[in-house]
Amino acid sequence: MVSSIHRPTRAKINLQAISDNIETIKSHLPQKTQFFAVVKANAYGHGAVNVAKSIENQVDTFCVSNIDEGLELRQSGVKKPILVLGAILPDEIKVAIQYDLVVTIASLEWLEMVKKEGLSLSQLSVHIKVDSGMGRIGVRSLQQANQLIKGLKEYGASIEGIFTHFATADEKDDSQYQQQLTFFKELINQLEDKPAIIHTSNSAASLWHTDSIMTAVRIGIALYGLNPSGVDLTLPYPLKPALHLESALVNVKEINSGDLVGYGATYQAKQSEWIGTVPIGYADGWTRDMQGFSVLVDGEFCEIVGRVSMDQMTIRLPNYYPLGTKVTLIGRDGNQTITATQVAQQRKTINYEVLCLLSERIPREYE
Ligand SMILES: *Cc1c(COP(=O)(O)O)cnc(C)c1O
Repeated sequence: MVSSIHRPTRAKINLQAISDNIETIKSHLPQKTQFFAVVKANAYGHGAVNVAKSIENQVDTFCVSNIDEGLELRQSGVKKPILVLGAILPDEIKVAIQYDLVVTIASLEWLEMVKKEGLSLSQLSVHIKVDSGMGRIGVRSLQQANQLIKGLKEYGASIEGIFTHFATADEKDDSQYQQQLTFFKELINQLEDKPAIIHTSNSAASLWHTDSIMTAVRIGIALYGLNPSGVDLTLPYPLKPALHLESALVNVKEINSGDLVGYGATYQAKQSEWIGTVPIGYADGWTRDMQGFSVLVDGEFCEIVGRVSMDQMTIRLPNYYPLGTKVTLIGRDGNQTITATQVAQQRKTINYEVLCLLSERIPREYE
């Protein structure tokens, strides 16, 4: 998909806000905690290369989800360590070594496959993943962890770290969190051969469960200034949202009482009304369930009326506005603000998904 630069729809990324968020978060971490910046999924839609390059001096390691996201950073000149968080198949060992990517090893079966295929792990750096209750990837017992570390070493790998991931660190009820933390701490205490870097905390755990913080933290959503819990828990300190989504009116017309708007003719004007068309739709990640939500024009909320189509949507304006008038979908205009979290509430989803769905068609501009 091409980035549609000849269209007024833009995501404006405030790199300074991301940099400020890092300093704010760091100021609340114990000194010497390593800061891992999670820039997977194109830095949650903010643009992985631009974000990583702008914060490289502030962080210790970048985390990505797969090998290709790591390659993208390496090929753009990023020098800091890069940890691939997702499980990879042994076929990818070569490329990981070639591009100096640290990989996550999550099972004994992986090691068996390496043995069977006669692969060498020399020069490969790894972190071991422990499944302490998330149920996704990772070894599930002390015995498996000991065996995996021993086996990986025999095959030449360098074991730099060990980590786990919490399923509920963003929830009010912390019982599952406590169970996972206890499990992981006990496992680490009894490990025969402890790697140097031990980490558990995502954004939520770093914000609300400081007892989880070990030698490093893995910060994703908080970098971008959003609350990992949505609206369930209050941020312990303020963060600055870094992404602003805007567009402009490309068509404005007055319709008569009774006139219909959009696919399915789901909206009918009750009186004579001004309708503006905004060039963004579900192919941009602005999904159909945004019908009924609002955007900002001239500092005022305007309802999205009629169905959101693939490339366009229609809004009800209080009066005539000229073509090219700015429309704010996420961000501040005048005294009003629309947050990614509010968009997520409208969609019954999480702010992470709202950001990640913004498609490549929307150009990212950096300020
Ligand atoms: C995505 C991810 C993170 C970052 O999570 P946030 O909630 O965005 O801070 C941390 N660790 C792992 C293993 C992840 O997959």
